[in-house]
Parts: sequence; C-alpha cells; structure tokens
Amino acid sequence: MPRTHVLEAIPAQLWRLVKLARHRVLMFDYDGTLAPFRVERQEARPTPGAVDLLRRIGAAGGTTVAIITGRPLAEVERLIDGLPATYIGEHGWERRMPDGSLVQRPLSVPTKKALESAERSAQALGFGELLERKRTSVVLHTRSLPAEAALSVQESCAAVWRTLAGGEKVIVDHIVGGIEVRAWGCNKGTAALSLLSHAPPGSIGVYVGDDATDEDAFDAVREWGFGIRVGERNGPTQAMGSLTSCESVPVFLKEWLMLTCGDDLVAGC
Ligand SMILES: [Mg+2]
Repeated sequence: MPRTHVLEAIPAQLWRLVKLARHRVLMFDYDGTLAPFRVERQEARPTPGAVDLLRRIGAAGGTTVAIITGRPLAEVERLIDGLPATYIGEHGWERRMPDGSLVQRPLSVPTKKALESAERSAQALGFGELLERKRTSVVLHTRSLPAEAALSVQESCAAVWRTLAGGEKVIVDHIVGGIEVRAWGCNKGTAALSLLSHAPPGSIGVYVGDDATDEDAFDAVREWGFGIRVGERNGPTQAMGSLTSCESVPVFLKEWLMLTCGDDLVAGC
C-alpha cells in the first residue's frame, strides 16, 4: 500500500513537531497496536519490522521509546525480545527500572478483595475458562466465542462486576475482545503523564494505541502532542490521528525515523 495512503490520517502538524522538537517521547501500547491480536495471547508477536524500527529510533537518540501495556511486563518483554525501552505494565501499576528491577505499586486491601470477588463471581457464572487473572485486574476474554455468545457472556459478567465497582476500588471496561475489571488509580494516561513530566523541556509526546483503555493516554498527551488510534474507531476518541491496522505501524515508524535521523538510517528497513 502506498506510504501516503497509509499515513493519510496522521495530522501534518505531528510530523512538523516531530521534526522540530528538542526531544520526543514515543509511547506504544502492545496488543492490537504493535502486535496483531491472537486467541492464544502468548503467541501475539509484533508486526514484522516494528521492533527493529523502534530499536533504531531509540538508538539514534532524541526519542525516548516506551511500551505501556495492560499485560504484566514479564509477558510483554518476552514477546518483544530485548527491545531497549521504558516498560510500564498492568496499566501503570508496574515499571521496569533502568537497573532491571521491577517496581510494583501496592494495591489496597479493599481493591485486592474486590478483584478476588470479581474472579470468584465470574467462575461461579461458569466463565472460568475465559478468565485471565493479573495482579491488578481480571480479564474475561471472549475472542474465541461467536460474536453473539461473546456479547451475552460479556453482559452477564459485566452486570456482576459493576456491583463491585463503587468506592473507587475497581473499574469495569469493555475492551477489544472482552471485558476487564481493574484496580482504580493508575491507567495508561497516568503512566504517559509520568513519562512526559520527566522528559526534557521542549519534548513532544506521541501515544499509539488501539483500545478503550488507551483513551486515557490519548487524552493525557493532547497537551504534549498527539494520540494515534490503530484500527477501526468504534465511537468517539481522544486520538487526533489514526492508522488502519498494526500492519501500518512500520510505515509510521519509518517516517518517524526518516524525519528525525535522515534517509540513510531508514535504508534497509
Ligand atoms: Mg491494545
């Protein structure tokens, strides 16, 4: 597909700022953004070329590359396979530090109890096979089900989970391919802001994501730069640009590399 067609929904102003900025913070969600969805989540590998381009962008200097994901970091780091970047996992509840240690923000006792209750209630409804339990969330994955059954299962589970969501303990969100109940207090927006607030003066921020949980980050980066939504839009978005699919991401990254580092670094990509 021609490059200009792939990038037609990226604002021209983004490229102007990327070229002129003193520093850039380029943040990526993982599933549905860097890597196409797979029913077997542990097989969701990045789109060919994307990680190599991110590695080149990071190595060239002038851009901080970050991965902000809902997955536990141990999972996503294995799938990305050694990309030097800032890693933030579980929607901001954990972060890999430069010395390699993993810092996890603690959960309150009421939040832990609400998540345990969410897991038990979904199991009691017979949805145990569809559940993924993380430290700070419980996800009901319905990608393996026919569309009508997926909707019915999501609605049954969401009705129960919403009874747990009061009191600022947990929130319930529809996500691509399921629903999720997660700890309240951190989200991808707070994670993006934590990076941007420590970036050099004059930095711009660009966040690329695909899902409802990325909207917090799209909103957060509006004062710093741009949110870019990957895939079809279902409803309103805070993103200011879009890419049609994960397969478009390498084209976007090549443009970024060319503008910030020159054509010679793009050769061979
Ligand atoms: Mg995603």
